[in-house]
Amino acid sequence: MKIISVIGSGTMGNGIAHTFAQSGFKVNLIDLSQERITAALATIDKNLERQVSKEIITAAQKTEALANIKSFTQMDQGVKESDLVIEAATEDMNIKLKIFADLDKLCKPKAILASNTSSISITKIAGVTSRADKVIGMHFMNPVPVMKLVEVIRGFNTSDETTKTIMSLATDIHKVPVEVHDYPGFVANRILMPMINEAIQCLHEGVAGVSEIDTVMKLGMSHPMGPLQLADFIGLDVCLAILNVLYTGFGNPKYSPSPLLVNMAASGQLGVKSGSGFYDYKGGGKDLVISKKFRRSS
Ligand code: NAD
Repeated sequence: MKIISVIGSGTMGNGIAHTFAQSGFKVNLIDLSQERITAALATIDKNLERQVSKEIITAAQKTEALANIKSFTQMDQGVKESDLVIEAATEDMNIKLKIFADLDKLCKPKAILASNTSSISITKIAGVTSRADKVIGMHFMNPVPVMKLVEVIRGFNTSDETTKTIMSLATDIHKVPVEVHDYPGFVANRILMPMINEAIQCLHEGVAGVSEIDTVMKLGMSHPMGPLQLADFIGLDVCLAILNVLYTGFGNPKYSPSPLLVNMAASGQLGVKSGSGFYDYKGGGKDLVISKKFRRSS
């Protein structure tokens, strides 16, 4: 593996590009517009600089990492030489199916095609290509340069060889890969999302307030962040979309999204990215401030 292409330069794509470039791989970073690429390169620069100031890497290593990244706004130019393409575009089935159908035509026959999807079926994505044995899930966690886990998802027809190559590559970039099979939510979100949904339902039923629910899980279960704060970070629209994948995928009402989550997503109160979720982020301070809607009067 020498050249890795990353499709999508948003939150996850720029972190994936950063991580591979820092480990010495040549990275082609691709997005739809120069504005998005410019913003992604600025984020990578800032995050590498933070690693330099914390003495995790040297200034020379930062320069080398940045020199390993080339950027493209046309997919055909950015993928033709690649040994591996990691798709980290918007979580939308139609967008991903189109990207994979195009990649199948544009990439070398031997290239492996991976998706960073949180919840879309790898088997379904592989179905639009002529190389289902070389299609796999590579689910990184946010923030990518910091988080150790990569959930490696085997589609129904992913080969042993492809799985072995990707497991070994994840180790080369100092991550810990875990192999899982392709069922709704894989493992990470199948376990995480019902917990977040139950926390939201506890709030909805008035069992406890925002701060109380998060404190129980932080102090009682040693979670670094409570489930409501975590939901705000992930984005309430994203949580809702993943729960709907679980709900429809298993046909089991236990995954049915809390009506409070549905209402918050519909109202645009999406968490950190919209400035307000269970907590309010508009002030920009370090202390957690509960959103007006959920403040208790006593
Ligand atoms: P994002 O919205 O920050 O970035 C998506 C990027 O993809 C955008 O810059 C967009 O312009 C680009 N894009 C869309 N269509 C494209 C195309 N056809 N070609 C090239 N670029 C295209 O999204 P994100 O949070 O980085 O999520 C990306 C993927 O990673 C999703 O599948 C998501 O489920 C998954 N994921 C996200 C997280 C998270 O915490 N945000 C964690 C794990 C996995």
